[in-house]
Amino acid sequence: MCITKGKVPPQTKADRTRYLQENCGDGKLTKESIERLTQDILCLPANRHEAALMVKAIISLLHILTHEPSIATAGYRYGLHLLEKYDKEFEDEEKVDAFFVTKFLYLLDTTFQRFCDHLMEGMDQENPITGMSHLEHFMTKNIRSQMSPFLDGAGVANIQLPRCLQPQFNPNEGLPPAPRGLPIPPPAQAPAPAPAPAAAPAWHRRNPRPVSDWAVPQGKTFGEFFNRNNQQNFEGFPSAPHHATGLPETICIKYQVTGLCPRGTACRRSHIHPDRISPEDKVQIKSRLESIYQS
Ligand SMILES: [Zn+2]
Repeated sequence: MCITKGKVPPQTKADRTRYLQENCGDGKLTKESIERLTQDILCLPANRHEAALMVKAIISLLHILTHEPSIATAGYRYGLHLLEKYDKEFEDEEKVDAFFVTKFLYLLDTTFQRFCDHLMEGMDQENPITGMSHLEHFMTKNIRSQMSPFLDGAGVANIQLPRCLQPQFNPNEGLPPAPRGLPIPPPAQAPAPAPAPAAAPAWHRRNPRPVSDWAVPQGKTFGEFFNRNNQQNFEGFPSAPHHATGLPETICIKYQVTGLCPRGTACRRSHIHPDRISPEDKVQIKSRLESIYQS
C-alpha cells in the first residue's frame, strides 16, 4: 500500500505521464485514470477508517490473484482484525501520532513482502510446497510481535514510517504529500550531507565465537545435514533480533554451526553473537542439533 518513492522508476510527473501513455495509452487506461495515476505515488490513509478500507481492498485483490481463503492474506486479515478490535486504542494513538496508522500499514506491507521473499526462496526446490506450511502463521506472528506493547497496553508499538516519509529523508527534494488534513513531519532544520553508507561489520558474515559443542560430528559436513532437500532442518531454532533489521527471525544455524554465513547482512535469518543467546535458547539449539545429527 505504501510505495517507496525511490523504487518507482519515473520520478517526475512528466515522466510518469509519458510512461503511462506509452504503456497504457492505447485504451487500456482512460485519460482520467492516467492523470490520476501520475499524481500520487504515495497513498496514505487519513485515519484508521481509511486504513481499514485500504486493507479490505488489498485483501480482495489478493483473493482474486490467489485463492480464497489464502495464506497470502493472513497478515492483512489479522491487521484488519486489529483495526476493528482495537478501534479505541487506534483512535487514542492517532491523537498523539498522526502517522500511526501509516506506520501500521507499512508494517502489514513489509510483513507481506517478507512472506513473498520466503516463498521465492523455496521456488527452486523440487517440491516448493514442502516445508512452506510454517509460512501460514508467519505474518500474524510477526505483526503480533511488533504490535504487542500497544496491544497489551504496555507501551508504544515497535513500528516505523518508511524511510521516504521520515523527516530526515532527502530534505532537498521535499517530502511526499501528508495524509489529508494531517500535519507532515517537519523537515530537518539544517540538513547535513548524507553520510556514506557504512561497510557491513565483519561479524555479519563471520561468527566471532562459534560454540564448539554445536559443530557437526567428526567426519561429517554441514551440507550433509542442511541442504535444499531438508529445508525443515533450518527450522525449529529459537528467534533473535535480526542483525540488520532488528526484527525477530529464526537464528541462522549455518552462522552458528560453521561460523560463517556468506550471505552476511543480507541473510534473512538472524546472525547473533553466541554470548547474546540466552541459556534457554542454547539448550533448545543443542537439543535441536542433536536430533538432526542423530537422524
Ligand atoms: Zn545466515
